[in-house]
Amino acid sequence: MNKSEFSGQAIYQVAIASPLRRLFDYLPPAQHTSELAPGTRVTVPFGTRSVTGLVVGKQAETSQPASKLKAITEVLDTAPLLPATLLDLLMWAANYYHSPPGEALNAALPAVLRGGGTLPGQKYWRLTTRGHGLPEGALRRAPRQAALLAMLQQGEISHQSLLDQGFKSTHLRVLADKALIEHYWRVHDDGDNAANSASTRTLAHGSSLLRETPLTLSMDQQRALDAISLNRYQCLLLDGETGSGKTEVYLHAIEKVLSQGRQALVLVPEIGLTPQTLARFASRFNRDIAVLHSGLTDKQRLQNWSTARGGAAAIVIGTRSAVFTPLPNPGIIIVDEEHDLSFKQQEGAFRYSARDVAIMRARRENIPVLLGSATPSLESLYNCEQGRFARLQLTGRHGGARQPGWELVDIRKLRLNTGFSGAAIEAMTSALTSGHQVLVFLNRRGYAPTLLCHDCGWSAVCERCDARLTYHQQGACLRCHHCDYRQGIPVNCEVCHGKQLLHLGQGTQRGESTLEALFPDIPVIRIDRDSTRTKFAMQDYMAEINTGKPCILVGTQMLAKGHHFPHITLVVVLDADTGLFSPDFRAPERLGQLLTQVAGRAGRGDRPGHVLIQSHHCDHPLLNLLARGQYSEFARHQMTQRQLSGMPPTTHMALIRTEATTARDAEQLLGDTRQSCQQIITASPAMRYLGPFPSPLERRNERYRFQLLIVALERPALHALLSHVSHWLEAEKRTRKVRWSIDVDPQDMS
Ligand code: ADP
Ligand code: ZN
Ligand code: ZN
Repeated sequence: MNKSEFSGQAIYQVAIASPLRRLFDYLPPAQHTSELAPGTRVTVPFGTRSVTGLVVGKQAETSQPASKLKAITEVLDTAPLLPATLLDLLMWAANYYHSPPGEALNAALPAVLRGGGTLPGQKYWRLTTRGHGLPEGALRRAPRQAALLAMLQQGEISHQSLLDQGFKSTHLRVLADKALIEHYWRVHDDGDNAANSASTRTLAHGSSLLRETPLTLSMDQQRALDAISLNRYQCLLLDGETGSGKTEVYLHAIEKVLSQGRQALVLVPEIGLTPQTLARFASRFNRDIAVLHSGLTDKQRLQNWSTARGGAAAIVIGTRSAVFTPLPNPGIIIVDEEHDLSFKQQEGAFRYSARDVAIMRARRENIPVLLGSATPSLESLYNCEQGRFARLQLTGRHGGARQPGWELVDIRKLRLNTGFSGAAIEAMTSALTSGHQVLVFLNRRGYAPTLLCHDCGWSAVCERCDARLTYHQQGACLRCHHCDYRQGIPVNCEVCHGKQLLHLGQGTQRGESTLEALFPDIPVIRIDRDSTRTKFAMQDYMAEINTGKPCILVGTQMLAKGHHFPHITLVVVLDADTGLFSPDFRAPERLGQLLTQVAGRAGRGDRPGHVLIQSHHCDHPLLNLLARGQYSEFARHQMTQRQLSGMPPTTHMALIRTEATTARDAEQLLGDTRQSCQQIITASPAMRYLGPFPSPLERRNERYRFQLLIVALERPALHALLSHVSHWLEAEKRTRKVRWSIDVDPQDMS
């Protein structure tokens, strides 16, 4: 290719949201003399459109022919939007996850800024060179204009305060038309407009750091805190059961960081960011907290992001994408519940892990990163074994609350009352009559997962997916949980027209009705995605639960995280079996984490808790390890399994997915991808290819889905191969019909 060279003129490399894994070259904008720093947003022509992009770098030459090269049309920022370290981190992440760089940038920027909008700020007026040079008394016949000019001689003034002083917009316009004055946009970096969510406040930095006296740490907690050295990179895993005091350690570490005048970034799972969590941070520190989660409006998000970027917010608490928040002065990163799946982006072209990016960010910023969990991921435990992370353990619970006792109830051949065994009902009755609260865990929304014809065995399935429809009593319909297809409830079987349609299985709605029938005098509170859809629903439920009166909570994994339920003494798990026999190699790990987390909700007050688990496989070794309350032993057992089967974390994995309207197209493209891979690196123990196989849910939303798994002993070899794959697929014409994605370190294999 012939290279164009432009003597003395730089070529800017711009990241643009596009499916291509590359940067795009542009000439400097006309009439722009100063150099554009990396991190500056620009408007550029792209195909027939004009789009917002981000300058990433600059070079002397380009492989583009001169005739094709276009110039930047507009410069949107006067200063880089992102600091250089963060921009580098993003480019690293785009590279590591084999994502188009523009997609990675999109994940990092608030929607308003992606769309070319401005940072929150105010319009300011100042004199132009011409205005400065105006001879004295030049505007004698226009006294208001002259007064305005005289004021601006003293310095820049905001538009609003000029209006407040009685000047009119027309005065300003006239002077601007004469090119005597000009306006510009001053960005609020100083936090004087920190409109955060309700639980945060603006206070001068001079005020005392603490709002309350911190608790005195236990020996374990103190040891953990002492292990954190603030001025260098290190990754620490804080491992302690629910209630062992991890959050208190975070608060102490943050206190140290803030007292150095630095910022703390705290990442929490999507549903772990409860008002309770926020209140705990807000009541400890006299400092601004910026909150970033998916429930914010675009405007709120921009506002909070800007206070973090400007340094006004000392603490940033947010979910996954908050890991990319710009911070002028970071001091620590904390990832709470590091094992949680919501830290992994499972969709789109940029499938990053916020936990892993957090670790890389801490390394680049040279600050500590603290991962906390009651049920650490095997990845993190492995990193501890390998000496890459330091493991800090907190033993026992605070306030003397003891470990809950576990009980496995063998339900084989038992007669169940719509899912509940006699033992479960007895335990619930006894807890409730002693004035306590009970939690019933059921990991399915809806009423019943299957509608089955008793006469011929037909069951209601989704037209668009390979999935059964779930019967929802609320709204009286059948719904698909994969594509959200809905239909009315049939009166007859579609095949034999029989009238005996049975509801099989248990969803939360059915659990709710069963419990209401069993305990007519006790309030039953259902908590799942359907019941908490409205804004204040969860808050109302929590208020009722916090009264401490006897009640039954029935719900999905939403109950397993974040919330503290001090009055619950009994947890009932209706069915622990689904996770035991799943084809996903991570299913046992997830089951162990889920059960341990749910169990951790019991007995947080002064009373010990009790966990009752119903299963058809009470002799299963995994359940027994868990039932002894031994998550770490359980995890060790899992690690051995992974080692034996050559699965992560002892190896490295990537998943390539395709989907198309015909199974043949989706499968063939993957088959050819595999062949092309094998021309680069043949299959061997060091590089294994598994597939193409149909995905566990082969058809979803009328598309057929296939996957190819690549497992490698060495990460660099895997990445070299994935670079090849992404370029090969980008050049492949069939991708007009077949969608594809690359998932590095996949967590969800569906
Ligand atoms: P985790 O984050 O591990 O679930 P928390 O930090 O929330 O644990 O602590 C659980 C409970 O114990 C909280 O009510 C907390 O106030 C209390 N607690 C934690 N550390 C201490 C301490 N050092 N002294 C007294 N109470 C503590
Ligand atoms: Zn039938
Ligand atoms: Zn469906």
